[in-house]
Amino acid sequence: SAKSEGRNRIHIFNDQIKHHNVNQIKLEEQLRHAIEYDELSLHFQPIYFVNSEDIYAVEVLLRWNSREFGQVSPRDFIPLAEETGLIVSIGEWVIYEAIRVMKKWKRQFDLPIKLFINLSSRQINHPNFTRELRRIFDITEIDPRQISFEITESMMIDNFDQGKKILGQLIDMGVKLSLDDFGTGYSSLSSLRHLPFQILKIDKSFIDDLSAVDANVAILKAIIEMAHSLDLLVVAEGIESQEQYDLVASLGVDFIQGYYTTPPLPENKIEEVFRQRTLS
Ligand code: C2E
Ligand code: MG
Ligand code: MG
Ligand code: MG
Repeated sequence: SAKSEGRNRIHIFNDQIKHHNVNQIKLEEQLRHAIEYDELSLHFQPIYFVNSEDIYAVEVLLRWNSREFGQVSPRDFIPLAEETGLIVSIGEWVIYEAIRVMKKWKRQFDLPIKLFINLSSRQINHPNFTRELRRIFDITEIDPRQISFEITESMMIDNFDQGKKILGQLIDMGVKLSLDDFGTGYSSLSSLRHLPFQILKIDKSFIDDLSAVDANVAILKAIIEMAHSLDLLVVAEGIESQEQYDLVASLGVDFIQGYYTTPPLPENKIEEVFRQRTLS
């Protein structure tokens, strides 16, 4: 099993490594119970139309408040969940919870709110994934067109053909697809043009490099132009300042996401934002 594989990887070379691995095991044990202990929750971060206060969509971001470790970053526990296979049940929990909130907001605000939901490689490659998703859509009766799944290019590396097939099945269900973290991997836009994405999300690391090196501005401008010629809409992620906002806006991005506009917020706080701002 994935768990015994994980355990077999513990080779005690020195105390430091031993210590690290023991913590990993404890973290894994805790993560295994996170759903039943009710320790998982969702945060939500608006994706705004550029030069506007209108919200285009909201990204769903998972949070884990462990009784043992306190708040654990998804950057730490998502890879662990992937490694151990726990991502399959956790990912399903995220989808159910996101849909619950989506239905509540539809009632409460009488407006359909688009949700962007992150998926993991192990999750989409699970043999039951698309069947289970179809079942969830049937039971919950939500409009799949209101959901965009965020996929990273690294998820396509292991088996491109298999990945492409699953993305096709998702599109057939009516959901949208976003390419997350663009600019961190190695693939060019042209190598991705045969995949059914509607949205390209430019990674924060790319945005951060902009002010430092002028050539990057020209590269980003070219990426945005090429994305548009491929009928992709572009989100700039991780916008933290007015300067960054103005720069990416001038380069032609369609949507803005970042701490500068609104950080990820818990359910009750994002609802306050909805009350204050126009939804599109
Ligand atoms: P991501 O999908 O690229 O999500 C964007 C990350 O950037 C989030 O980190 C968000 O909180 C953070 N962020 C947003 N605006 C800013 C900003 O202006 N400055 C900075 N420094 N950060 C900003 P978070 O919430 O810690 O999530 C990290 C990663 O964990 C996500 O990156 C995603 O890959 C993964 N993740 C989160 N939730 C889920 C989930 O439900 N399922 C899966 N499979 N992965 C998830
Ligand atoms: Mg994302
Ligand atoms: Mg991203
Ligand atoms: Mg990501």
